[in-house]
Amino acid sequence: MDFAIPPELTLFVDSVRQFREKELMPLEPGFLRDGRFRSETRTALEEAGRRKGLWALEAPAEYGGQGIGMLATCLVAEELFKHPAMFEFGGSPEPALYQCTDEQKERFLYPIIKEDLRCCYAFTEPGGGSDVAAIRTTAVRDGSSWIINGTKTFISYAERAGFVILFATTDRELGAKGVTCFLVEKGTPGFSLSRPIPTMGDDWEPHELRFDNCVVPDANRLGPVGGGWQLAVEQLTHGRLKIAAYQLGIAQRCVDIAVEWAKNRVTWGKPIASRQAVQWMLADSVTELDAARLLTYRAAWLQDEGKPGETEAFMAKLYATEMAQRVTDRCLQILGGLGYSKELPIQSFYRQVRVWRIGHGTSEIHRWMIARDLLGSAARD
Ligand SMILES: Cc1cc2nc3c(=O)[nH]c(=O)nc-3n(C[C@H](O)[C@H](O)[C@H](O)COP(=O)(O)OP(=O)(O)OC[C@H]3O[C@@H](n4cnc5c(N)ncnc54)[C@H](O)[C@@H]3O)c2cc1C
Repeated sequence: MDFAIPPELTLFVDSVRQFREKELMPLEPGFLRDGRFRSETRTALEEAGRRKGLWALEAPAEYGGQGIGMLATCLVAEELFKHPAMFEFGGSPEPALYQCTDEQKERFLYPIIKEDLRCCYAFTEPGGGSDVAAIRTTAVRDGSSWIINGTKTFISYAERAGFVILFATTDRELGAKGVTCFLVEKGTPGFSLSRPIPTMGDDWEPHELRFDNCVVPDANRLGPVGGGWQLAVEQLTHGRLKIAAYQLGIAQRCVDIAVEWAKNRVTWGKPIASRQAVQWMLADSVTELDAARLLTYRAAWLQDEGKPGETEAFMAKLYATEMAQRVTDRCLQILGGLGYSKELPIQSFYRQVRVWRIGHGTSEIHRWMIARDLLGSAARD
């Protein structure tokens, strides 16, 4: 397999790097001090990106987007995540929305690509996130509508979202095959954001959502009855690759800071870069970073080629998220007290990477899926 990055892609990513350096980096000290961006700041940054043509990058051209493909999407994410605000450009819908009917596209898909509508996806429940068959939120048919009841938890971006991509069970007996997807607009009676959930991540406050006899027309059902799990799988594979790419940017930035520091910090008359203890931490970090990079690019390339690559995506996300945890930890150590301080982004990255071993499928579930691919039916317990 050839992993060379095409020259036109290198040029494109360079424009993203320039955006990061010009628009994002000056805001870094404020972000580190406050631990967040105001939502107006994110909106202003998105608008600045839009003016530079950095909008709707992931949406296919047939829907009015730029359709840059998965490898390019990963390269962009890698570049942007060198900043701890973990900013992303707007206008890229959740992949499940490409399954919208023509009528639904007008209401849900195009307004994301062409205007400024946002959405979130709600899968996890208080009773469990990893186990799809355990979904307790019910959708019961009532004529041409569905009545939805239940609670979703840890739902990111719910505050800004104009609608939620909701996974509910329409037939508990069928387990994962009884899960159906609905598009529920904010303001629908019975749907509310019941509470924010503060986390250890900077600027990341997911919400708990409540559905109390919430009536949703059948016209808002996404995909077939019982087809929700398949939609979720596609959604999660795409997200998994982006998450793997985030780790590359985070780890690269931390290594860059640590290398610079190691060359200049002098103890006992010599830069700490001359000490084997420090050299080995850096050598391990760049080696693991490179391995994660190759796994991620390969999985993205497979997706662009339309080849099977689900297991490769599991491997990339599993390895990259655990790599980022180790690399941020080592780099923080190399910076000593300064690494722990809010004058540098390493402490923010160190805290923030922790979520990626949990969200979008935990490391344990990833290992299980990789083993299942390897062992087939022998892996069943
Ligand atoms: C900041 C944040 C943002 C999030 N955003 C969203 C969002 O936007 N939308 C959404 O739907 N969800 C979201 N989530 C939820 C996230 O996807 C879940 O937390 C995750 O899937 C794990 O589910 P859980 O927390 O219920 O853990 P559980 O599934 O209860 O697992 C608990 C522990 O048991 C382990 N475990 C479970 N089953 C097995 C098994 N069979 N074998 C081995 N080990 C097992 C897990 O690996 C984990 O270590 C978010 C979570 C966080 C923290």
